[in-house]
Amino acid sequence: MELIFEKSVTGRRGVRLPAGDVSPAPPLPAALVRDGAPDLPQVSELDVVRHFTTLSRRNFSVDTHFYPLGSCTMKYNAKALEEAAKLFAPYHPMVPLLPHGASFSQGSLGLVHGLGEALAEITGMDEVTCQPLAGAHGEMTGIMLIAAYHEAQGNRKKYVVVPDSSHGTNPASAAMVGYEIITVPTAPYGDMDLEKYRAVMTDEVAAVMMTCPNTLGLFNPHIREICDIAHDHDALMYYDGANLNAILGKVRPGDVGFDVIHVNLHKTFGTPHGGGGPGSGPVGVKKLLASYLPGPRVVKNSDGDYSVIPHSHESIGRTAGFFGNFGVMAKAFAYITMLGQEGLIQVSEQAVLNANYIMARLKDVYDLPYDQTCMHECVFSAARQARNGVHAIDIAKFLIDRGFHPPTVYFPLIVKEAIMIEPTETESKETLDAFIEAMRDAADLAEKDPAAFAELPRTMPITRPDETRAAREQNVCYFGC
Ligand SMILES: *Cc1c(COP(=O)(O)O)cnc(C)c1O
Repeated sequence: MELIFEKSVTGRRGVRLPAGDVSPAPPLPAALVRDGAPDLPQVSELDVVRHFTTLSRRNFSVDTHFYPLGSCTMKYNAKALEEAAKLFAPYHPMVPLLPHGASFSQGSLGLVHGLGEALAEITGMDEVTCQPLAGAHGEMTGIMLIAAYHEAQGNRKKYVVVPDSSHGTNPASAAMVGYEIITVPTAPYGDMDLEKYRAVMTDEVAAVMMTCPNTLGLFNPHIREICDIAHDHDALMYYDGANLNAILGKVRPGDVGFDVIHVNLHKTFGTPHGGGGPGSGPVGVKKLLASYLPGPRVVKNSDGDYSVIPHSHESIGRTAGFFGNFGVMAKAFAYITMLGQEGLIQVSEQAVLNANYIMARLKDVYDLPYDQTCMHECVFSAARQARNGVHAIDIAKFLIDRGFHPPTVYFPLIVKEAIMIEPTETESKETLDAFIEAMRDAADLAEKDPAAFAELPRTMPITRPDETRAAREQNVCYFGC
């Protein structure tokens, strides 16, 4: 594709800026004054519109394609939710924090408070902060709360325990707070090995971090016992809520024995994600941790008004600016109130049904290392196809040509040739059937003509970039870099 710089024609313009009307012009520091015109492409408005529209059509997005990216919950988010966020766009984020500002921002403060209450109800927690800006940020906030608690109790703690199926952010967050990590392997039945877990638990363990259902899409039947064992050692239970889409209205982590949870609003509650944000990772806690929560906090007074209070002296302090990513919170609040209790229950039921439908219809052609009823996602292995030289990445490339965003591949790490499929509740049976047909065709081709995969995908402008370098070493400069 021609780059926008290559469309440049000297003298062509899209907009004309009005002449400056500030007089006298304020002095600028010499270092900031240009000595020539900037080297920008000289193009018309139409050139710019065509350029960016063409680029956008090369993207996969939920608005254009089925996007079964396991662990990511790439559901469709209704456009009405964007309208909800837009309602608040005119308000300056400083207003509630100014003296008397709370009286001008009762609506926004009510939303922060109401969302916290709704999330507390959904997760079974006592208090919620909506400050953290992502799931991983919520994890770090949660582990900091746990560290503050242990310190106040005079507990000497050194370790955080995670199962080997955990998302990489779990051990990373705990390590950033200063804990050493103990990893517990997965048993053949797909859940954390209970005996090995018992063996590593000592009074030096600060917390156990779990995702339930885990990244294999399995709900751990021993989860209560795992919480009890942790509590016997004065360790707290951290719930990674990224998979909350599987259990809305069915199980409340707080009721099971978890003490802290983060919720990914950009997965479960109405905000699309990808491309680095914006996200939001509210953290819910049981009462024993409430005094350590970040501030400022929004409280509801006895007269029904909302006020902003600074954080307590025990608090871990601020973890983000203002009250967090407000637009994302507005969408989550609208999502929860639009669906209501019944609607949220239906979300999880449909998400789980869809995943099981895909699992049942593909397990005769792909290996299913943990063959049991799954929750919102299922994890296959391309090990059978790999014996013919066709790997998970090849099947991913095949799906691109069929118009599907590939599932997550090579994660979780404990499954060789993993293909992790999360269809979400928003897809129709027709879409699921078309995807199943494409997956079955891939398996068929892997039997009959494995060499054919080497040339896939054929329909894309680029085919097989080095994915790590493509993400980490982007070069978006046109001139001299
Ligand atoms: C996405 C995810 C996270 C991290 O959340 P971010 O919002 O991406 O920081 C943590 N755990 C699991 C299981 C996830 O899927």
